[in-house]
Amino acid sequence: MILIDGKKAAAELRAELKEEVAELKSKHNKVPGLTVILIGDLTPSQIYVRNKEKSANEVGLKSEVIKYSDSVEEKTVLEKIQELNSDETVSGILVQLPLPKHIDKQKVIEAIDPSKDVDGFHPMNVGNLSSGYESSIPCTPLGCYLLIKKIEPNLSGKKAVVVGRSNLNGKPMTQLLLKENCTVTITHSKTKDLKAECLEADIIVAAVGIPELVRGDWVKKDAIVIDVGINKTDNGIVGDVHFDEVSKNAKALTPVPGGVGPMTIACLLKNTIDCFKRSQI
Ligand code: NAP
Repeated sequence: MILIDGKKAAAELRAELKEEVAELKSKHNKVPGLTVILIGDLTPSQIYVRNKEKSANEVGLKSEVIKYSDSVEEKTVLEKIQELNSDETVSGILVQLPLPKHIDKQKVIEAIDPSKDVDGFHPMNVGNLSSGYESSIPCTPLGCYLLIKKIEPNLSGKKAVVVGRSNLNGKPMTQLLLKENCTVTITHSKTKDLKAECLEADIIVAAVGIPELVRGDWVKKDAIVIDVGINKTDNGIVGDVHFDEVSKNAKALTPVPGGVGPMTIACLLKNTIDCFKRSQI
């Protein structure tokens, strides 16, 4: 079984991006800039943002974090986004989720200029992705996609099952696999027989949030299994896939931690650079 090393893949991607930033700098005399807005003091959000800033600096991006307390008015955040939209030194804008309850998440997402939407959540980018046009792609499914392509460069005709239909993971993942000519089944909490669906799959992407949901006897021999889940349990962090059981059947499997997670931030940097490149055309 191939253990898909997300840490290594992310380090390789960051090294490529660092070279790309250096080339862009010598060509345009400026570097892509990523601005993250962080509202409130939730510890996981603070950790994510710190890691994003560290990785952005490592590849040579201009990086800025704007912090607000969780009592900030929605209007203040929307005005700041407008300011960043028209700031030429800012290539990508990310508002760290979740937001405090009094701030309308959708309003915030839609305020970001789609050409600077490095999370790929703006309806314009969602629509472009599903129409097969160029767009920013949500970072976690993009990371999953790059990991799958490392194992199997030609996905045409493969059967893929995506478990979970969130806007963040399942739906964009489905679009990416469709674009590669996979036959994709997207499953969710109302799916009748999830095991039977998974048993058909050459590729399974699990993004559910239920610890070890996908069992060994759900996976056909030689399937590629990507585990997006991050679940805190009494036994530590586990994924949505039962690692020990599935590793006996699968051709390739991502561990949790150390699989999809590290690719997410690397893909955010990639999206920032891609936004910059599109803005220079
Ligand atoms: P989410 O928004 O809660 O969506 C979960 C999806 O799973 C929903 O579509 C839900 O179906 C489906 N589901 C629930 N129970 C199911 C069942 N028994 N069988 C089949 N499908 C079921 O979750 P998310 O934001 O996509 O996150 C999923 C997991 O990924 C979480 O563990 C999260 O922490 C993790 N995550 C990891 C990363 C990373 O960087 N590695 C990034 C983001 C999220 P319905 O639509 O019918 O409710």
